[in-house]
Amino acid sequence: MTSIAVIGAGMAGLVCANALQQAGAAVTVFEKSRGVGGRMATRRSPVGTFDHGIAMFEPTSPAFVEITKQLVADGILTPWQFEAMYLDGAAFANPTAPSTTCQQTRYVGAPTMNALAKYLATTLNIQRECKVDNLEQVAGGWRLTQDNQTFLGEFDWVVLAVPVAQAANFASVNALFTKLPIHTLQACSVLMLGFDTPLQLPWQVAYIENHAAIEQIIINSAKPQRLNLPYTTMVVHSTAAWADAHIDADKEMSKTHLVAAVGELLGICAQDALHQDLHHWRYAKPQVVAPTAAHATGFAAADDHHIALCGDWLLSGDLASAYLSGQRLAAHLLKSL
Ligand SMILES: Cc1cc2nc3c(=O)[nH]c(=O)nc-3n(C[C@H](O)[C@H](O)[C@H](O)COP(=O)(O)OP(=O)(O)OC[C@H]3O[C@@H](n4cnc5c(N)ncnc54)[C@H](O)[C@@H]3O)c2cc1C
Repeated sequence: MTSIAVIGAGMAGLVCANALQQAGAAVTVFEKSRGVGGRMATRRSPVGTFDHGIAMFEPTSPAFVEITKQLVADGILTPWQFEAMYLDGAAFANPTAPSTTCQQTRYVGAPTMNALAKYLATTLNIQRECKVDNLEQVAGGWRLTQDNQTFLGEFDWVVLAVPVAQAANFASVNALFTKLPIHTLQACSVLMLGFDTPLQLPWQVAYIENHAAIEQIIINSAKPQRLNLPYTTMVVHSTAAWADAHIDADKEMSKTHLVAAVGELLGICAQDALHQDLHHWRYAKPQVVAPTAAHATGFAAADDHHIALCGDWLLSGDLASAYLSGQRLAAHLLKSL
């Protein structure tokens, strides 16, 4: 039986691992965090849950539309119909500033965004809180270790399902994959606020244009099946420029700054929120600036060396891309196993 190590339990790694395991491979998944899901993330708090990674998604490709339908039928995903507001952040201080609203439908995990990851992880052997630091090619496969020399195992194949910047930390990846697509990596800071009073807002999602700090505001507690009552929870996505400028700054000061910006933008006392938390995503959304052959296939594989890469960054940098990349890589590997 072929043994395969999958590094990374985000959408791409979980989809790939499931397909390989179902085909008979002995798969072990290594995940550096305590939970699974990667950027499909949910944080618990005394005021309820916050989906602090991807907030919702729109299935774009036909394959992802089909899997979304199936997961809705299984109760893992649910459609969310909400009132969306488009605001001009530059003109917002002006009460007559134009804004538009419309109804939108997107999909969310039920009852949390990481429910999908937990579902995909159900039958997998996952080593959690286990960061793989070194890959060493040995006769017939790969030896995985941590920096403190802890031996993690030897496997016939390795699949790296991690963001591009983290894949580039491995010397063997740089040596074997010389023609990877070139990316800009967009950071995002996510502010989580919990209020003990309802907010009188005529929308559930606001898309902000032309604002230095804030790009999107989501009323997390308005999503279906959230158990936040009696609290109202809000998730605020910063602009990439604001995140870049604050990612290494003092976290408390950055939080205070973003809270003040939300208050000013919405005309609410955001500083009164009884729960305030901030998370920085260094690699939130990759954007391909120079595609290559790997970008066309959605994965990269050095078949002779038994090592392969998948992840959102090998397609369009979104959840559907992560799904398709993991699926396509598994189909490719199954031809040669
Ligand atoms: C704030 C935010 C908003 C977003 N909004 C949207 C949106 O509106 N629509 C959309 O489609 N997408 C959105 N995305 C992007 C979407 O979440 C990602 O495209 C998708 O989840 C990526 O999945 P992945 O499996 O490729 O990578 P990841 O989810 O990043 O998974 C990689 C995993 O590898 C683990 N890992 C890394 N290095 C190691 C190591 N050395 N050893 C062990 N484990 C390791 C990480 O901990 C992580 O769990 C958003 C993301 C963020 C953060």
